[in-house]
Amino acid sequence: MKVVRSPKQIQEIVRKIKKQGRSIGFVPTMGALHPGHLSLIRGARKDNQAVFVSIFVNPIQFGPREDLSKYPRPIKKDIALCNKEGVDFIFYPSFKSMYPDGFDTYVNVPGLTEGLCGKFRPGHFKGVTTVVNKLFNLIQPDIAYFGQKDYQQALAVKKMAEDLSMPLAVKVAPTIREKDGLAMSSRNKYLNPSERKDAVLLYRGLKLARNLINKGNHNCVSVINSVRKFLKQGRTISVQYISIVDLKNIEPALILKGKVLIALAVYAGKTRLIDNIIVKI
Ligand code: AMP
Repeated sequence: MKVVRSPKQIQEIVRKIKKQGRSIGFVPTMGALHPGHLSLIRGARKDNQAVFVSIFVNPIQFGPREDLSKYPRPIKKDIALCNKEGVDFIFYPSFKSMYPDGFDTYVNVPGLTEGLCGKFRPGHFKGVTTVVNKLFNLIQPDIAYFGQKDYQQALAVKKMAEDLSMPLAVKVAPTIREKDGLAMSSRNKYLNPSERKDAVLLYRGLKLARNLINKGNHNCVSVINSVRKFLKQGRTISVQYISIVDLKNIEPALILKGKVLIALAVYAGKTRLIDNIIVKI
């Protein structure tokens, strides 16, 4: 396994691999790798002849009051984990090499990024699609892997790839959870014991919504209110949003029919957590 810091060098490596006719699987991450990331890497390993992982805490997707400076960066541990998973190349660029002075081109997918998290994190998805676009250009994957945990992100990336005719497939893998159901996230490290305890309510709240729907409650407002009430048990929890949306365009679902996404974002103390499930009606 090789750790590559320079964009130029990664391009040279990609050129060689393409020449050899090897397929490239790519997993973009911000590091602080956990089993959620590892499941994407395993998928990439299974499907492809060469596996690239990027580790880059992308400043342009963080808002001014968000956690950019305290985001965990355990690079040595991440390198060891990638090595163990049989990754071929880690791309670990510096900020300057990705955004040199004068950088001024952005990619935006407005429609899909206005609702859900987009409403509360202005500029976030524009930062994501811009960096993913750059990474796709550098690494030229055949298949790129994303997690359902960040459903809106995966959808925006898929749409970008489609709209801009990118010659690659985007695969979305299921959310990996702790034993008690909490979706794994690099940000779970921020939680103190009482916040960690309350954090289990997110997935339980989503399952409550699913149960209510399965039992025949097809009234979105009523289902959402029940989840809101349920989350109130957690003293450290404050809800940012709970939404039931169409899977394809993430518009609020008016009629519960077919498949819907139930998504939520909450603060546990000062830590923002998200989760979602897909429910078939
Ligand atoms: P991040 O490092 O948080 O930017 O995440 C990198 C990729 O890993 C994204 O595609 C995430 O959706 C995915 N990911 C993060 N957490 C999980 C999880 N618990 N299960 C599956 N995929 C995940």
